[in-house]
Amino acid sequence: MKVLIIDDEKSIRTILSEMVQQWGYEVILAADGESGWKIFQIINEPVIVLLDWIMPGIDGVELCKRIKQGAKTSHTYVIMLTARKSDIEDMVIGFDAGADDFLTKPIDPRELSCRLSVGSRILSYQYELEQRNAALYETTRVMENIMRELQTVNGKLKDLSMEDEVTGIANRRCLENYLAKEWWHALREKKIMTFIMIDVDYFKLYNDTYGHLAGDECLKKVAAVLDHSVKRNSDIKARYGGEEFAVVLYATDYAGGKKIAEKIRLAVEELQIPHSASAINLYVTISLGVATMIPDPDSSYEMLIKKADDALYRAKREGRNRWIAV
Ligand code: GH3
Ligand code: MG
Ligand code: MG
Repeated sequence: MKVLIIDDEKSIRTILSEMVQQWGYEVILAADGESGWKIFQIINEPVIVLLDWIMPGIDGVELCKRIKQGAKTSHTYVIMLTARKSDIEDMVIGFDAGADDFLTKPIDPRELSCRLSVGSRILSYQYELEQRNAALYETTRVMENIMRELQTVNGKLKDLSMEDEVTGIANRRCLENYLAKEWWHALREKKIMTFIMIDVDYFKLYNDTYGHLAGDECLKKVAAVLDHSVKRNSDIKARYGGEEFAVVLYATDYAGGKKIAEKIRLAVEELQIPHSASAINLYVTISLGVATMIPDPDSSYEMLIKKADDALYRAKREGRNRWIAV
């Protein structure tokens, strides 16, 4: 640990220097405030300063203020040296300037030794604390980076998700993937495909009456009906969007499609979910559009969806709680 002695009296510098050196400190000497301040510009570590109060030029209090306000020097431990027994007012001025401690001349070696030990201990704690803060800062920075990466990955995972968050059945993306694959499969195998588009009747009124959360619960129950009603691995049931669902039946013809559509319609009605605002029933009902196609090179699954959608529209127009097959 370095001790910087700044005193304009040579004899005091000599006595203090001898004492301090014998206790193992490295000593730097300055004869006035000006040269003391210059030394500060070249040392890059916290030091203890024994600083004479009364000096020509920059005096001890002034230098102490500079030291404590400097960004590089503020961690210095300053012990002010006063010629007479300090009265309270002097002490206040010194402490206000940022002094850490006081010593009165003539200086007692035992007292100086003790006060230097305290200063040295405080600087060590300060150093340790700074190291820990730096480590903590680094850890926080790393954690923040990890969190950012996690958020990105989660976002990407969500984008890749094939499941609808509310109902737990397949989502629209999954349905599109299925269709893109199975349409060509059916084309090669010359299999018939049935698409059923399903829409909850008067669902806006349901939300308005029972609230959005109840609306979500209702959608979950409808999805569960689809899940139970359509069992084959080659089929898919999905949430198409909002309160619309879609079922695709692979290698299932017109008659089979109608049967499944009726099974689903009836099962939803039999759930007996109260819907006091419905104009057609006491309970929640659904309308369905059923379309069947044998894929050929000139057709696309989008055409099948459009047919089912048109049929659903007809089912709505013709009174709801029914299916129309085309
Ligand atoms: P229609 O019988 O003609 O189908 O009438 P509708 O009220 O069911 O149809 P409309 O398209 O006017 O309203 C659909 C409603 O579905 C509006 C919207 O607030 C609600 N909805 C869409 N997605 C969700 C959802 O995830 N949760 C809930 N609770 N409601 C939803
Ligand atoms: Mg709708
Ligand atoms: Mg609806």
